[in-house]
Order: sequence, then structure tokens, then C-alpha cells
Amino acid sequence: MAIRDDILTAVLEAKRLHNRFDSKSRADLGEGRIDVFGMLVDMDIPVLFRPLKNLLGAYIDEPDRGVIVTTRRRLPVQRFTAAHELGHASLGHKASFDKKQILTRALFDHESRFDPREVQANAFAAALLSPPWLIKRHMERQGWSRNDLADPVVVYQLSLRMGTSYSATCHALFDCKGVDRPTYEKLLQTSNKKRLIKKTLVDPYVPSNLYGDVWVLTERDNGASIEGCHNDILVIKVHEHSSSGYVWQFDDLAKAGLLIREDSRASEGNLHIGGVVYRKLIAEAKGSGTCRVSFREIRPWQASGAPLNSMNLDIDFSGPLTSGLHPVQREALLEVA
Ligand SMILES: [Zn+2]
Repeated sequence: MAIRDDILTAVLEAKRLHNRFDSKSRADLGEGRIDVFGMLVDMDIPVLFRPLKNLLGAYIDEPDRGVIVTTRRRLPVQRFTAAHELGHASLGHKASFDKKQILTRALFDHESRFDPREVQANAFAAALLSPPWLIKRHMERQGWSRNDLADPVVVYQLSLRMGTSYSATCHALFDCKGVDRPTYEKLLQTSNKKRLIKKTLVDPYVPSNLYGDVWVLTERDNGASIEGCHNDILVIKVHEHSSSGYVWQFDDLAKAGLLIREDSRASEGNLHIGGVVYRKLIAEAKGSGTCRVSFREIRPWQASGAPLNSMNLDIDFSGPLTSGLHPVQREALLEVA
């Protein structure tokens, strides 16, 4: 019973932070993931990134509060670790040094062999990063139904947008009853086939490796903030009105440090009776900072005219975070110096 109360307290604390940081309004404005680092910065808790070997992260409570996160993992794990440490801070815990067991499901299952504070910090992290309302918002935006959640590709795309790992996203979907147990177990089994999923998504492009994630973006992502890693790949699929002379312009990709690898068109249905042409573009991130890009569907001979359609994205493919203080805190320190 006590552990249930602890978990409830943790979930309520995550909700309190969402209210304080206006997370729902920010999601409405296009932020797909909960800005856990922004929360730590705003709460004046220093976040230090270090190449920790045996730890994912730590929370320090004396003499001042501080959080350490490993640089040896990808962004979703850095984000989960930071959320777990923020949990320790928000729940008034003592210092904690966290190994990779915080990523295991056992801690979510509230097993009694674990320190209740760790169970509580994990419950907080899950409630903070993948609340049911955020999952619902992504489903509405993408037009995904509950049935679609049985598709590992959909769950993978949801995980990228929420900035959570594939398995953490499966746990969150099961916990909010988005999927039943058989579907949940099937989805988890697919996690070791992620490479194959990525390979299929980037087809016909063959990247030199598939370490990065593959984002499939459509018109439904217009206005979204995309936060990924320096080796991620974008697959942009948009409807192109080429029979009326319109062409999508993707010049801004270069501005964001993205290299175009494939550019093709495919039609669906008979073009003479109103069939649809899809433009498919594959671009690879080669290390880039935050950048706003704007794609426009225009008639090339009327380049200065109003576009038929446009798509704006805020792209940040600078992850994972590297050694040192969080960039915002580093900059603030330099301003003081
Ligand atoms: Zn911990």
C-alpha cells in the first residue's frame, strides 16, 4: 500500500510540474516532447554531462542540488535519466547514484526488492515524459487510431516525437491502456528488429550505418519541433500537386545542415482522373544546431507568389548532449564571467 501512495505522490508531482511549465500549451504549439532539460534549467538545478562508465546519472543534494547525466547514451536515455534525477530533486530525496537498472521494467513493476525512492523516481520520470494526454495529442495530430498502435512503425514514430525510447513508449502505451497485454508483448519483441524497421523506412537509400533514427514526416508535422541526434535521417513524404505545376521546394534543408540523399516522386491512382503524386525526400543530418526550416509548394515560375502549401519545422539534431554543463547553463555562466 505504501508503495502505491509513493507512486501516486510521484505522478502528482509530475502533473504539478506540467502545470507549472504549461506543458499542454507548449505541446499545442508544436513541442512533441516534454522539455525536461528546460525544466531543470528553469528550476536552477545545474545539469552536468559526463562520460560516466558505470552510471547513467546521479542526483546530488549537498551542498547544493545538481544532476549528472552520462554522455555515453543516446538522447532518449539522457532525457529519461534527467527526468529520473529531476524526480529525486522534486520529491525531496537524498543523493542517488543510478545504474542502468533504472531503465528496466522491473522498476516500473514496483518490485519490493528495489529502494522505494527509485521506484518513485521512475514513476515520476514516466509520468513526466509520456503522460497519456501527450500520447493522445500525437495520435490526434497524426491521425493514428488505437488499432494503429499495434504497428511497431507507428510506436517507433511516436517514440521519436515524444523523445522517449521505443521500449519506454511501449510501457507507457500499456500503462495508459492504449494497447492490451498481447499487443504490448508483441511490440516489445519487435524492439530488436528496429534496425530492419529503419532500413525499410529509408529504402531505397542505403546509409553507411543505421545508428541514427529515421523520422518519417508529412504535412501532419507542420509546425512541429523535431529534436533528435546528429546522425538521424529524415524521410519527408508530402502530397505534390504537380499536375497543376506545383513543386515542393526544400532548399532550407541545407540551412539546417541536412544533406539530401534521395528525391523521388510516386503516384497513387490514375493521374488523369485526379490521382495523387507524393514527393519523397530523404535527408541525413550531419550535425546541426537548432534551425527553423520552411518548405513551400510553389509554381517555379511564380516563386515570389504565395505558396499553395507550406510546412515549417523547428529542427534540432544536435543530440546527444556532450560533456559539460547544459548548453543554456554554460552560456549563462559565460555571460556572468
Ligand atoms: Zn535514482
